[in-house]
Amino acid sequence: MELLKQRILAEGFCLPGNILKVDSFLNHQIDPELTLAMGKEFARRFEGTQIDKVVTVESSGIAIGLAVAAELGTKLVFARKNKSALMQEDRYTCPITSFTKKETKDVYILKKFLTAGEKVLIVDDFLADGNAALGLCNIVEQAGCQVAGIGIAIEKSFQRGAERIREAGYRLESLARIKSLSDCKIEFVEE
Ligand code: 5GP
Repeated sequence: MELLKQRILAEGFCLPGNILKVDSFLNHQIDPELTLAMGKEFARRFEGTQIDKVVTVESSGIAIGLAVAAELGTKLVFARKNKSALMQEDRYTCPITSFTKKETKDVYILKKFLTAGEKVLIVDDFLADGNAALGLCNIVEQAGCQVAGIGIAIEKSFQRGAERIREAGYRLESLARIKSLSDCKIEFVEE
C-alpha cells in the first residue's frame, strides 16, 4: 500500500533490536485518514472471503481493526492483556510473548464474543516473529471458529513471523513489507 509506505519512509525511525517506530500515525498518535484507508485496503484484499468477525489484540491493533470491521460491517473483538475479576472458564486464553517487551503474558477473549463456526479475520499493526498473530489464531480456534485470514499493517519480512504463518496454512495479507532495517535504513520488499 503506497500511502502507508510513504508515511513509513517520511516518519518512521529505527530503535535497536530491529524495532520500527511509527508512533506519529500508528502506535501512539493515530492518523484517522490513513487508518480508514488501511481498513478499506484490507476489505478490498479480502473481498469474496466470508468474514463474520474481526479479532485483534490491544492496544495498537484496535484502530486498524475498527477500520476494517466498519468496512466489512462486522464486529471487532480485541484480546485483552490485563487481568480481570471474571472467572477463568469464561474466557479463551493463550500466552503471547511480546516482541517489544520480551515478556510472556496471557491474553484472553471472553467466550461470549466468539461463536463456533464464525469466520474470523485477524489483524494487527506489526508482524515480527508471529507470536501475537499465531496466539490469536489459537484463541479463535479454541472457540471453534475458523481463521479466514491475517491482515497486518507492517510486516517485517526479515523476521520469521510471515514464514511461520504461511507454514501453518493461513492466508497472510500485509500492507507494507519491510525487507531490511539494517543500519536503520528502511527497505521494502519489491512487490
Ligand atoms: P510478533 O508477535 O509478530 O513477534 O510481534 C508483533 C507484535 O509486537 C505487534 O503486536 C506489535 O505491537 C509489536 N511489534 C513487533 N515489532 C514491532 C516494531 O518493529 N515496532 C513496533 N512499534 N511494534 C512492534
